[in-house]
Order: sequence, then C-alpha cells, then structure tokens
Amino acid sequence: MKFSIPDTRPFYDGIHQNPFGKEKFLSINPATEEVITEIPEADEKDVSAAVNAAQKAYEEWKEMDVIEKGNIISKIADAVEENADELIWLDVIDAGRPIVDAQEDIEAVVRMYRYFSGVPSKIEGSTIPTGNDKVVFTVPEPYGIIAAITAWNYPLFNETAKIAPIIATGNACILKPAEETPLVALRLAEIIANIPGIPKGLVSVLNGRGETTGELLVANESIRKVTFTGGTETGKAILNNISRTQIKGTTFELGGKSPIIVFNDANLDGAAKAIAFCGFFNQGQTCTAATRILVEKNVHDELISKIEEITKRIVIGDPFDTNTSIGPLVSETQYNKVRGYVERAIKCGEQLRFGGLMDKRKGFFVKPTLFDNVAPTSELFKDEIFGPVLTVTEFETLEEAISLANNSAYGLACGIWTKNIATMHSMISQINCGIVWCNTLFEEFPGAPAGGFKNSGYGREFGKEAITEYTQIKTMWVSADDSYTDWV
Ligand code: NDP
Repeated sequence: MKFSIPDTRPFYDGIHQNPFGKEKFLSINPATEEVITEIPEADEKDVSAAVNAAQKAYEEWKEMDVIEKGNIISKIADAVEENADELIWLDVIDAGRPIVDAQEDIEAVVRMYRYFSGVPSKIEGSTIPTGNDKVVFTVPEPYGIIAAITAWNYPLFNETAKIAPIIATGNACILKPAEETPLVALRLAEIIANIPGIPKGLVSVLNGRGETTGELLVANESIRKVTFTGGTETGKAILNNISRTQIKGTTFELGGKSPIIVFNDANLDGAAKAIAFCGFFNQGQTCTAATRILVEKNVHDELISKIEEITKRIVIGDPFDTNTSIGPLVSETQYNKVRGYVERAIKCGEQLRFGGLMDKRKGFFVKPTLFDNVAPTSELFKDEIFGPVLTVTEFETLEEAISLANNSAYGLACGIWTKNIATMHSMISQINCGIVWCNTLFEEFPGAPAGGFKNSGYGREFGKEAITEYTQIKTMWVSADDSYTDWV
C-alpha cells in the first residue's frame, strides 16, 4: 500500500504552520537514493513560536485530571494502531527499515503508550520522618517544556520512547527528529493532536539540522530539559553548548560497543542465533547491538561456524519485501563510514571471515560482515561502527573475559552466555554497563529501565526511572508551630 507524504511544515499549536525559516533540506529514500521530498528547517522564530504554544499546552495539561491524562495517552496507543500501515510505510521509505522490522516496532510503540498511560495517576512523592513538629514531604513536578532530540535508527520507536514518558509526567514535548528521518514524526504529531481533549501544542515537531534547529532548542531558556539519543560526540557538544549560558537537565542515551561473552558450556545454537540477530538486525544500526563477540577458545570454531550458517540465510534487499532481513543503511554518510571501516580493516590485514565489501548498487546496502581474531587495539574492536560488522576475540579465563568486556570507552549493554550460575554472577557484578542480558539478547520492555554507563550516557529511559528522569523533586517543610526558634 502507498500513502502520501505528510505535510512537511513545522508542527506546533496543534497544526502545521507556515515556516519562518527559509532553509530546506532533502529527505532521501536510502533504498533507491531518490529524493522523497524537501523539508523546511525550523529557525529561531519557528522555535520561539513552538515554545510559546508548548508553554500554553503545558499550563492546560497541568490542570487536567490525572485519570483523564492517562485516557488521552491510551487513546494515542489506539490511534497508532489504527494508523499503523501508514506509520510503517513512512519508516520504511525514510529509514530503509525492512517492513517486517517496522511492523514489530508498531507493537513496541503501542505498548509504550499503554504502559505510560498508567503513569499520570501514580506519580507520588514521599513523606520524610523528622521526629519533631515539622512535616516534610516531596512532590515530583514536571520540568515544563522538554526538548527531545532523536536519532534515525528506529525513528518511530525512538520518538515514542521520549514522547510517552515526557507527557505522562506532565510536560510538553518539542521533538526534533534526525534529519535523515524527518517524516514519520510529522504524521505522529498529527495523530496525537487529533486525540479529543489533548491540549494543542503538547507535542510539537520541528525538523532541521542538529547544528541549527537542534542547537536553537538546546539554547532556548524556556526549555528546561533536553533528552537526547544519538552519538557520544554530539552528546558532548550539547553539554558544551548548554554550559555556555545556562544549567538545565539532560538525559543522554548515547553510543555503545557492546560485548557478548560466550563460555564453553553455553548453548552455542542459542548464542549463535542471538548474535546474528542482535548484530545484523536493523543493518547493525542499534546502540545496544552486541558487536564484540568474546568467545572461550575451545568453542571458537564451532560458534563462528554456526553464526556463518545463519548469516547465509539473511536476505539483503528491498525493504518493502517481507522476505528481506537487511535493508540499506540510513544514508550515504553512514554507508561511507561503514564501508571505510571494512576497507581499512581488509587493507590492514584483519581476518575477514565472511561478508566484506559489496559492489555498489542503487541504495546504501552493505553485507553482514565478521572479522575474526580481532585484537583489542584494533579500531574494529574500539569504535562504534553502527553497521552490520562484528568482531571475534578469544579468551581463556574468566578474568580475561571480564577485562576484554570492560576494555571499551562505552558501557551500554552486554550479553553473557553460560549455564554456570557462578560464572554468570561473577560477570554481572564485574561488567561496567547499564544493561546485562544473560542467555538472551536484545530484550526490551516499557517497564524495564535502559541506559548506559561511561561514554554511553546517563539517565534512563522506560519504567519508573523515566518518571524520575522527567520530573524534579520539590521538598516542602510544614511546621505545626509558627513561633520559630530564637536565634540569639
Ligand atoms: P547524531 O548524534 O549526530 O544525531 C542525533 C541527533 O542529534 C540528530 O537529531 C541530530 O541532528 C542531532 N544533533 C546533531 N548535532 C547536534 C547539536 N550540535 N545540537 C543539537 N542536536 C544535534 O548522530 P549521527 O546521525 O551523526 O550518527 C553519528 C553516530 O552516532 C553514529 O554513527 C552512531 O555511532 C551514533 N548513533 C547512536 C545512536 C544511539 O541509538 N545511541 C543512534 C544514532 C547514532 P541531525 O542529524 O538532524 O543533523
């Protein structure tokens, strides 16, 4: 089924608005390299108008009954389900995601709104015993307007992971999608604005480049928090930019270079299936992808052969074909970046086990690739490639496995495959990362917090932790005695 491209003008105050900004950028279909449409870039006046509308929406949202707020968020879930085919279509043409993957995302997106629809009525503070006539209690309050700056790898899902908890905790949200994937958010904003009872301006979408629209949002003093998903270097730039003029809240979901550690007692079939899926799904463009395979020496050959066999069944091609398992990378920039890593590795004599360079054809396609016996000093081992490229490194002892796993500037996720409970516990307690998967990989649930250690960021998405993330605590002291203590 084919749908029409949504209105590409900035969306705020409940409708698309004529842009003040004169600049435009192109949206490209990564599977065909054809231009889909032109997108106006939001400038300072667009940002300012969206902020004014968001402020009004926030005031209205603040007064609304909490059960009613939950009903509205639940209706967003219904509306996403009703418009699923169109949202899927937009994710496929814009990001090149295989259609079956985009379909799975819808389910996750709906579950996210359903989970957070229960939140508005459950944001509770606490009372703190003081043992005297003072009563101390806390109330979590919203920030007001929160800017969400998101990445292109799972457009609809990344955007929902911000919008759902931001509005559930009483804030208004201004979203800036990645310039590679500007479309699906525009349609989502329309869908949300059409929910009866929702304040106009509660969810706005401003498209534009990071160094223009993104920086304007970050600099705007009425925006009290920035939540960001993207690369670590961009995260550092955002922090620098904020600190030049102000202090505001930040949540950072950044890059990763996650290890998957396979011990010799593991179910090797299960581990191989999980590694192939987690490494190559979405063309390897996942922050939590476990791309550093660390394997105990005496099962190395068997595990890698199993991964290779599975990879032979992967179908690379048209993302609209339901048989396709791997589509194109999102953009020419990403294609050149990933190709550069593979070319340099081959030139430097890294051991290519399968995959490698593919003849250039229309679309930004790359082959699932695996390099064997990669040293921790190699850029393949250290850098987040963000494409379907895996490395294999052997270990012989538990200590060596821990040391290799922690040998990274990142600390987002990690997988451990073993039947030995003692080994598993020892690994869990010594691995420096925010998510540990044991005998499974790539799990996600709206109630389970996710986020990183080290250069992978701070703050958590999902679950109760997201409530903490998007509220600030107000502490109140109330005295039963108003005579106050003598000072002198
Ligand atoms: P970026 O970090 O550049 O992009 C993420 C978002 O931040 C986009 O919306 C981008 O805008 C915006 N942005 C860029 N610069 C600024 C700025 N100065 N101020 C405010 N916002 C800004 O990711 P890339 O697309 O460049 O990818 C780079 C690398 O980041 C990838 O190769 C990968 O390693 C990693 N990455 C990690 C992701 C994760 O899930 N953790 C997701 C995506 C990428 P725009 O793109 O529109 O210019």
